[in-house]
Formats: sequence, C-alpha cells, structure tokens
Amino acid sequence: MLSDTIAAISTAVGESGIAVIRVSGPEAIAEVGRLFRSKIALPEAESHTVHYGFIIDPETGEKLEEVLVSLFRAPRSFTTEDVVEISTHGGIISVKRVMDLLLQQRDIRLAEPGEFTKRAFLNGRIDLSQAEAVIDLIRSKSDRAFSVALKQVEGDLSRKINTLRHSLVETLAHIEVNIDYPEHDVESMTTEFIKNKCTEVTEGIETLLKTANQGKILREGITTAIVGRPNVGKSSLLNALARENKAIVTDIPGTTRDVIEEYVTINNIPLKLLDTAGIRETMDVVERIGVERSKAAVLEADLILLVLNSSEPLHEDEIKLMEQLSGRPTLVLLNKIDLPQQLDRGKVALYFPENAIVELSAKTQEGLDHLEDAISQLFFGGKLESGDLTYVSNVRHIALLKKAKQSLAEAYDAADSGIPIDIMQIDVRLAWEQLGEVIGDSAPDALIDQIFSQFCLGK
Ligand code: GDP
Ligand code: ZN
Repeated sequence: MLSDTIAAISTAVGESGIAVIRVSGPEAIAEVGRLFRSKIALPEAESHTVHYGFIIDPETGEKLEEVLVSLFRAPRSFTTEDVVEISTHGGIISVKRVMDLLLQQRDIRLAEPGEFTKRAFLNGRIDLSQAEAVIDLIRSKSDRAFSVALKQVEGDLSRKINTLRHSLVETLAHIEVNIDYPEHDVESMTTEFIKNKCTEVTEGIETLLKTANQGKILREGITTAIVGRPNVGKSSLLNALARENKAIVTDIPGTTRDVIEEYVTINNIPLKLLDTAGIRETMDVVERIGVERSKAAVLEADLILLVLNSSEPLHEDEIKLMEQLSGRPTLVLLNKIDLPQQLDRGKVALYFPENAIVELSAKTQEGLDHLEDAISQLFFGGKLESGDLTYVSNVRHIALLKKAKQSLAEAYDAADSGIPIDIMQIDVRLAWEQLGEVIGDSAPDALIDQIFSQFCLGK
C-alpha cells in the first residue's frame, strides 16, 4: 500500500489567495512532471526548489492552470517519500481542474484523510504521539494549546517516554544477566536495583500524569456554563468576555442536533462555552431550569459561573441555586457593581468560600481581570506559566501511563516480597511495552487506522 502515489487538496476548499495540492509517493515527480510545463523538467530539478509554470492537459495540450510547483525528494520530505506540492490560484474551479487531472493519471489515487501524516509515521519520520499532536495543532483553540501541541510535534513527549523506556531496558538487561548466571548470587543486589529503577520510572510517569488535568483543559477548554436569573447580566458577561478575547465558534456535527461551542481564551486558558441548542440564550440556564438538557449542561460543566445581580437583594430562586451548586466548581460573580449595592454578601459567603466570589461589572468591564485570575487559580493553582510545555493531554496516553505505573507497582511489590526474579521481568517488560504504545511502538493496526481517520483530507 505504501508503494502507491497519493494526492489531495491540502488547503481549505473555497475562495482563497492560493490553494495547495500535495502529491506523495514514488511516482509523484514523474506523474506531475508529465503534466507540468516550465523552464526545467521536474524530474531533473533539485530537491527543495520551487518552479513556475503551467499545468497542461497532456491530451489536448490545453493550459489548465498557472502554478508554482515545489519539489521535495525522498527522504527529506514530510512523508519521507518524493513529494510535490502544487500551488494553484485559490478558488474551487482552479483546484478542481488540477486535482481532476491528477486523479486521471494511472499511478495517482486520492489520499485518505490523514494519509500523508500516516505515511510520515509508517516511514518512521514521526512517532504516534507526534502524529496525534499534529491533529491537536490543527484543532487548537488557543495560543497556549497550540504551543503545547507544537512541543509534542517536535518530539518533546517522545523524548521523555524514551528516557523512561531506556531505564526499563537497563532493568531488563540486569534481570537477564541474573537469570543467565544465577550462580553469581547477586539476587539481592538485583532486587534492590529493580526496586530503585521502578521507583525512578514511576516518579517520571507521575510527573507526566500530573500535567494531565491541565493538559486536557488546555486542549479541550474548560466546559463552562453561565447560570443565573433573568436580567442579572449573563449575556452581557458573555459578550464582554467574547469582545475582550476573540471568540471562536465551532459547529460540532454528528449529534442529533448540532452543538455550538464558543471558545473564549482567558489568561491563555480556553473556556468552552457550550451552547446546547445553538442559541445564546440557552446559557440562561435558570430561565429553563426545568429543562433537562440545561441541567445536564450544568452537571457536565467543569466550571459554573453563577451570576448574581449585586444591585438587588438575593432572590429565593438564587438561594435554591446556591444550595444546588455548593460543592461544585463554581465561581460566583457579583455583577453590576457599578450600581448601588443591595446584595447580602455574607449570605453568599455561607455557600461559597471567599476566593470563589468575584465582584465585577459586565457593563464597565471592571473586575473582569479578577475573574480571569480566579479561573487560573481554580484550575492551575495560579501556576500556569511554567516554562515546560510538556502536557500529557491525550486520553490514550493518559490511560497507557496509568497502566505502566500499575505494572511497575506490581514489579516493585514482587521484588519486595521475594518472588522469583523472572516473574518481575514480566511486569517490567509490560510497563516497557505500555510506554511504547504511547509513541506507537507495537501499536495495533486498528488503533493506527482509527487515529489517522480523525485527520482532515490532505493532511
Ligand atoms: P441576562 O438575562 O442574564 O442575560 O442579562 P443581560 O445580559 O441581558 O442584562 C440584563 C440587563 O442588565 C441589560 O439591560 C444590561 O445592559 C444590564 N447589565 C448587565 N450587566 C450590567 C452591569 O454590570 N451593570 C449595569 N449597570 N447593567 C448591566
Ligand atoms: Zn441573556
């Protein structure tokens, strides 16, 4: 399958300045070369060069499009195969003409989604965690999430995993020697060695797992529900946040009805404002407190912003709501502090600790920065700005790290209770394999297919 040549449009389809078609595989240069007329014949051109010319229909001689062709010879390309990238004028007709012609060629077929990246993986240029990070890059909703994904594409996580695996290989070698030469009577020394190594690698895994929560939040955003009585200022707050922090709206198809998610980035933290019915007013959860869907939104939320109008006394509905929300990750926003104050703050403090109450005005924007600080504090203990951008955020990686940790715990216990050394070997080996699966070592084909199928076409 890797021996054929694939092509796909790599840029978003629609009107644009330019569009890029990518072709990869052993026939890429020859096939495109036959269709491309320029000063130099493509097969004679050097790697990493760009050429101006025309795509010609070989049967009619008709000029189909004016293009720039970039050439990357194997193995110094994205896929490690010969790659040709054709930049056409943007626009649907332009790209389609060239693409249709390419697909008429005998040795070119349409690429599957993610197939270019999959080839980079199968050809050993990147490992699985790097490939997965490519998806994260594309889907990033905040600068911070993008930086984290970029680090992972560069192999940051892979290096850490490899270091841990290297320790385990040492351990396995040590055990091996002991099994081969039992007369050396070094069993007790070996047991100590294994225990030390298990502890060391476990600590490494724990360090990575500690980042999991924050990594997941950076990647997916904090699912946030804004609740409160009518007219307390929920919509105003949403608008104020969106105005200050460029909001990104995405449609997620696939459910019975489309769900609209709005991303707002606060202090580098993406908030995912879930809008279940596709309209903003659904954020007014209290207005529809009887609606099951809204209740579910509150239950699912990582963060609830309870908005109260501080220029009025507490309403009995609000007391009920505070009872329901107490104990949940809630920030209470006392809105409208620009007006004369009437709210009994002491009563609110009965339900929520001091640090969960933020005073602000959605109208004047006063106090919005305090809201931002409170969110950082709540989810990151205020320590988001660490220099190391290695965050484990992928659920698959997290599950494997936990399994590996468990295997090492079993190896350690075995070592501790004087079980024969070849039994420990099994658990250490298992941990080594589980860590390997993060970077795609010995990952099953079905898993690999499933991961790459999430990519868009042309990536
Ligand atoms: P919602 O029903 O909770 O979404 O409330 P809205 O956002 O629609 O606001 C209701 C009214 O309160 C509007 O007239 C807003 O202009 C006003 N409002 C919202 N926030 C503030 C604020 O901080 N100060 C003042 N003075 N008025 C506000
Ligand atoms: Zn509203």
